[in-house]
Amino acid sequence: MLKKKKIPQINYDKHLRDERRKKLKPHESDGEKVCKECQSSKHVTEFSIDMAYSDGLANKCKLCLNKSSKEYRRSNVEQALWSSRKYWANKNDVKFDLKISDIVIPAFCPILGIKLETGDHKSVESSPTLDRKIPSLGYVKGNVEVISHKANRMKSDMTVSDVESLLKYMKGN
Ligand SMILES: [Zn+2]
Repeated sequence: MLKKKKIPQINYDKHLRDERRKKLKPHESDGEKVCKECQSSKHVTEFSIDMAYSDGLANKCKLCLNKSSKEYRRSNVEQALWSSRKYWANKNDVKFDLKISDIVIPAFCPILGIKLETGDHKSVESSPTLDRKIPSLGYVKGNVEVISHKANRMKSDMTVSDVESLLKYMKGN
């Protein structure tokens, strides 16, 4: 049977970190630190351990760190939407003059009201997609909105009169 090789370097670093952590104990368990982001003084347990800093604690509190990583993920999603649509528009000869900042992902789909999910556990239906309000105008400022994949699919499958007929049928008239 194959055994995983141990890399001594990592163990050595871990040992060093444990030693430093031990030395930090009194400081860690008590005292306050000012968060660089929100500027508020918080108990040291509100900060993650980060050996990159001289006091062994991250310079931003856990809450701010969490928030900025969420924002980072979100801006990545906007960037991904932007580049994939730009590529598609270019290939299909559709006008495209958007900047990444023109793409704003709302919390909820403006059509269906479902939560737009950008995380790893998203379902396809709730993924944000970029919609052209008037398709022939292309991806230009003022003509785009981020809606759920589900709403976008429904929109592209049906014309206005299709929707009206479906609504009439579903309401039983
Ligand atoms: Zn903070």
